[in-house]
Amino acid sequence: MTHTVSKIPLLSPTPGTERHLKIHRFGQQGVGLKVYIQAALHADEWPGLLTLQHLIGVLKKVEQNDGIKGEIVLVPYANPIGMDQRVNGVVLGRHSFSGQGNYNRNWPDLSVMAEEAVMNIKPEASIKQKQASIKKALKTGANLLPKMTPLDELKAVLLSESIDSDIVLDVHCDSEALPHIYCNKKQLSESLELAYDMACPVLLIEDMPEGDPFDSAQIKPWLAVEKSGIPSGCHSVTLELRGQSDVSDSLAISDALGIVRFLSRRGVIDGVTSEAPEVKIHQSNLAAVDSVRSPASGIVVWEKELGDSVTKDETIAHIVDLDADDPSLGRLPVVARSSGLLFSRQRDALVSHGDRIAKIAGDSILENIYGDGLLAL
Ligand SMILES: [Zn+2]
Repeated sequence: MTHTVSKIPLLSPTPGTERHLKIHRFGQQGVGLKVYIQAALHADEWPGLLTLQHLIGVLKKVEQNDGIKGEIVLVPYANPIGMDQRVNGVVLGRHSFSGQGNYNRNWPDLSVMAEEAVMNIKPEASIKQKQASIKKALKTGANLLPKMTPLDELKAVLLSESIDSDIVLDVHCDSEALPHIYCNKKQLSESLELAYDMACPVLLIEDMPEGDPFDSAQIKPWLAVEKSGIPSGCHSVTLELRGQSDVSDSLAISDALGIVRFLSRRGVIDGVTSEAPEVKIHQSNLAAVDSVRSPASGIVVWEKELGDSVTKDETIAHIVDLDADDPSLGRLPVVARSSGLLFSRQRDALVSHGDRIAKIAGDSILENIYGDGLLAL
């Protein structure tokens, strides 16, 4: 049996308390492809937590049948710091209470390590050897990252575990949404395969990674050395497993089996066969996603459901103005700026002026995408 579970101690946040990460490993280091999967880096996004529990159970059975053909590293909860951030009984795990921002932004860029490794690679080396040299350098770089604060340390540990992987799945969820995947445009074909295996109806394609989320920290070093003719050694995506309330055994089992189908397709595991449900995949450039903002403060009343096709200028919701003297006149329409598929909505009904309340996977690039190119702060 190769399944091992390790406990990695983390910095103590306060006297008298301890933190740690659990890491499940299957297969043998250096044998076959390495896959890294983590859940709930945003610590208030819980569907992936249950999915990984089921995935571990499936992989244990696969292992009993000698079906593990690669190396699989699973981090069943990636952010114990965020999970401990409670206010009035509510876990607020998206942004660091220590003032270091969104947990899925500003991940270290190890491109320099890859570039230095390329300078020392012999030209006659095979592509596989060149990729292995870069991965070794990236791992060394990740191990040398500063660990001054608990969050610095957490990032360094997660990067060290993941940065030499061939496949990285960072499992998140939205507020209320269809399953969707964020991928780099250069990894479209393999991401489409993942979407089919996961029966995931929406694929969002980024031109260039911005904001330095976790998935792009895995890709950036390979883009930096692309000009030297070495193909990317890592397929890295963010997998959004519906909305925050979509936590059930049936959904989690189905998602775990989707991941298993993809790992089988890649030859990481063997001996498991299951058919993916039929799915029509809507592909959209990230810059063509209408990140809909509320035009007023009030109660949002939806006119469109998740999965509905909408047309440009169509009303998708109304904001009910609670200050209106005449309620019949106190409804402001929320219109789509783009035709496309409504795949995400804000779960909370009380919204403020300018809140992002919906996402539409559109058909054409919008002039006016907000912020850093990512869809949520
Ligand atoms: Zn997230």
